[in-house]
Amino acid sequence: MEPACAAPPPWQHATARTNMTTSTEILTVSLALVRTTPTGPELFWARRCADRDFLAGFHAFFAGSVESNDDDLKSAAMRECFEECGLIFTGDGIRTIPVEKRIPETLAQTGVQSAQTRLEHLGWWTTPQWLSTSFSTAFFGLLLTESEGQKLDRLSEELDPDEFDEGWWISPRDALQQWWEGRAFITTPIRSIIESLADGSKALKSLPAPDRLGPTRTSAGTSQTSQICGGTVLAPLRTLTLPPATHTNAIIAGDRQFVVIDPGAPDEGRLAPLLEHLEKRAQQGDQCMGIVLTHHHRDHVGGLELLSHHLDAPILAHPETLRRLGRLPLPTQKLVDGQHIKIDHPGPLRAIYTPGHAPGHFAFFQRDTKLLFAGDMMASQGTIIIDPPEGDMGDYLRSLRRLRKLRPRAVLCAHGPLVTTPLELIDHYLEHRQVREEKVLDALREQGPATAKKLVPHAYDDAPPEVWPLAERSLLAHLQHLQKQGLATQDDDRFVALPL
Ligand SMILES: [Zn+2]
Repeated sequence: MEPACAAPPPWQHATARTNMTTSTEILTVSLALVRTTPTGPELFWARRCADRDFLAGFHAFFAGSVESNDDDLKSAAMRECFEECGLIFTGDGIRTIPVEKRIPETLAQTGVQSAQTRLEHLGWWTTPQWLSTSFSTAFFGLLLTESEGQKLDRLSEELDPDEFDEGWWISPRDALQQWWEGRAFITTPIRSIIESLADGSKALKSLPAPDRLGPTRTSAGTSQTSQICGGTVLAPLRTLTLPPATHTNAIIAGDRQFVVIDPGAPDEGRLAPLLEHLEKRAQQGDQCMGIVLTHHHRDHVGGLELLSHHLDAPILAHPETLRRLGRLPLPTQKLVDGQHIKIDHPGPLRAIYTPGHAPGHFAFFQRDTKLLFAGDMMASQGTIIIDPPEGDMGDYLRSLRRLRKLRPRAVLCAHGPLVTTPLELIDHYLEHRQVREEKVLDALREQGPATAKKLVPHAYDDAPPEVWPLAERSLLAHLQHLQKQGLATQDDDRFVALPL
């Protein structure tokens, strides 16, 4: 597959009414409404519903895919804005249409064309290549007059409840403060736009020129870093991990004093995004306090040797992890459950012992932001294997429940993007395992006595045969868990269901 960032569509191509999307790239538009108030500019942002496929729980502008009957990108942006908050421009001003009356005919009858000429193109952004879905987004801004802005004071009441669960006008500085404190999550281009507004300019024209915006414009072929909030930077690194995941998230946590979590890339090329970031931090005088490992798997530790040439900091991990890794290129420190790892901002990371996927697995919780760094306990892209004897299903389920009790605000897994609906993700994993274990027990009752291999086609009949060899490992973990619960017994490599 082509890297998403390799060839963003030029303006002309994107405005053509044919071939608006390619098979790997979805063309979308985003519209920022900006108004002036006596105290300065305000923008309208809204939080995307938790069940959205993309950027669920993120704060965003009005946005969506370009459709085949859109005349061009600007009309697509106005249509999305109309659908999501009901805004229309008529000959004598603006008004909002209730959600149930937002049909194309209503939009067509208004003076939408006149408003389109007021849209400023703020830039292009293409999603980073490590995301499984690729979007190319044209950002626009619409600066409302003072009287228009006043009329939209209660715009939050007009939001389409299928799209957003809340939204409000906010000053650029307050928006950035919320992002910095980890209370609102936004994408990099939206942050760029807000930062430009916070610079004190009221005119949207002073925002970044087209083609200047976004993290993926200039370095096709490499991963990028992105700042999740103040003191948390994500550096997805291409690693030797389990498909469909292709990257492991290295995380740089802390500000002037920081730690690096899970540097998994095994060579200079794949480690480059992290090394470049660390070089920048060193130039700023920031200090690395340690390299922290969630567990010993190769896609989490592959960069240790190379990193030891660049950093003079200890490796912090569970004794089981350190024992499995053997000789290491840097001094080591054993981490214990509950230990606080000191970083200066936004506050220390607490080590949460979470065995199950690996014997020495730690997740890390930051109380100040309620961010959870989950390692391989969950994945927002890819799958988690419980592979005995290192993997233990009972431990894994207990660990998941322990993470749930922390009630995190967001979770960064080792694979995939930030998840702002962590409880839903944890519940999904718990339910998924429960359903699977019931299927395993049913299959065992019907087929037993049986080996794990024999049960796979029955317990994983909803999965393609290519994944059965890996599924067999998790199935074995389920069988052992059933055994511990007194629901099955083992005779050599064959299992038997016990009567209830
Ligand atoms: Zn792992």
